[in-house]
Amino acid sequence: MATRRSVVLASRPQGEPTAANFAIIEGPIPEPGPGEVVTRTLYLSLDPYMRGRLSAAKSYAKPVEIGEVMTGETVGEVIASAHPDYAPGDIVVGPRGWSTHCVSGGTSVWGAALTKLQPGAAPLSYYLGILGMPGVTAYSGMTDIGTPKAGETAVISAASGAVGSVAGQLAKRAGARVVGIVGGADKVRFVKDELGFDECVDHRGPDLRAALAEACPKGIDIYFENVGGDVQAAMFPLLNDFARMIMCGMVAEYNDTSPRPGPNLMSAVRKRLRIQGLIVSDKPERFAEWRALAAPWIKDGSLKYREDVAEGLEAAPEAFIGLLRGRNFGKLVVKVS
Ligand code: NDP
Repeated sequence: MATRRSVVLASRPQGEPTAANFAIIEGPIPEPGPGEVVTRTLYLSLDPYMRGRLSAAKSYAKPVEIGEVMTGETVGEVIASAHPDYAPGDIVVGPRGWSTHCVSGGTSVWGAALTKLQPGAAPLSYYLGILGMPGVTAYSGMTDIGTPKAGETAVISAASGAVGSVAGQLAKRAGARVVGIVGGADKVRFVKDELGFDECVDHRGPDLRAALAEACPKGIDIYFENVGGDVQAAMFPLLNDFARMIMCGMVAEYNDTSPRPGPNLMSAVRKRLRIQGLIVSDKPERFAEWRALAAPWIKDGSLKYREDVAEGLEAAPEAFIGLLRGRNFGKLVVKVS
C-alpha cells in the first residue's frame, strides 16, 4: 500500500529548535473529501515564520499543535480530486504541510484558490520563492512602505535570502544606492557580484557599526528589516530624517526566550521616521500582480535568484534549524519528490 510520510511537531522548543522537536509519522495516503484535492508534494518551502508556529504564544496566525503536521506551502501534483476546478496531473502551488502528500480544500493559506502552474513557464520551486510568498513580501514592502527613489540609500538585511535579494534588486531598479548586510564572505560576494548591490557588509565582521557607516556615507533612507538584534542596533543611528523602516521580520530574535530591549524611539520623533510592519497575507491581490511583473524579469535575466535545495522530506527539520542560524544560502526549499 502506498503511504505518506509527514513531519509533525513532537514538542515545543525552548530557544533554538532541535531535531528532537520534530518526528516523522507514516500513514495511508488520504482520499479527497467533497471539494478537496490530494497532491503529491514536489517542493516544500521552509521559511523563518515557521519558528513562530512552534510557539503557543499569541501571534497573527495560529500555532501548530503538538502532534500536528508542520505547516508550510508546497508545489504539488494533483493525484486525486473531488474539486471541480482541479484534475489529476495539475501542478498547483498552495497545499500546506511538511508531508509527501497534502489534502487541500482548494484554497491556499492566503485565502486565494490554489494556483495552477504552467510547467515550463519558470522552475516550479520558484513559486515558493521569488514568484511566491517571499517575492511578494519584498515587492509589497518596497512598494507600500519603502518607496525608494533615485539618490536615496537603501539597506537590506539578510540580503542574499529569499526576501532580501528581491527587495534590494527592486530598490536598485528604482535608482537607489543599495547596501546589503549578510553573514559571511561568500554571501558578500554573491550580493555584490551577482545581485548587483553597490555595497555589502558582513555582520559577522569585527565592527559592523563602522563597516555600515563606511558603506552608507550619506546615511540610510530605507531600511528593510529582516533580522533585528545587533544588526538593527548598528543600523538605527544611521537613519536619515524621514527614513522608512520596513518591519518585515527579525529572524535573529526568533529563538529568544525573552524580548530584547528596543532602540530608544526619541529619534523617531526627531527624525520623523516611518516604522511600519508588514504581513504579506494582508494583500493577497499582490500575488498575481507580482508574478506578472517579475516573470519577464526572471526570463530576461535582469532579476537574479538563488536557491538552496535540501533533498528529501527527512532533511526538512535540520534544514529549518539551519535557516535560523544563517546556514542557508538563498531561498531554502526541500525537494520532496
Ligand atoms: P532568508 O532566505 O533570508 O533566510 C534567513 C536568513 O536570515 C539567513 O540566511 C541569515 O542570513 C539570516 N539570519 C538567520 N539567523 C540570523 C541571526 N541569528 N543573525 C543574523 N542573521 C540571521 O529568509 P527569508 O528571506 O525567507 O526571510 C527573511 C525575513 O523576512 C525573515 O525575518 C522572515 O521572518 C521575514 N518574512 C516576513 C514576512 C511577512 O509577511 N512579514 C513574509 C516572509 C518573510 P545571513 O547569513 O546573511 O545573516
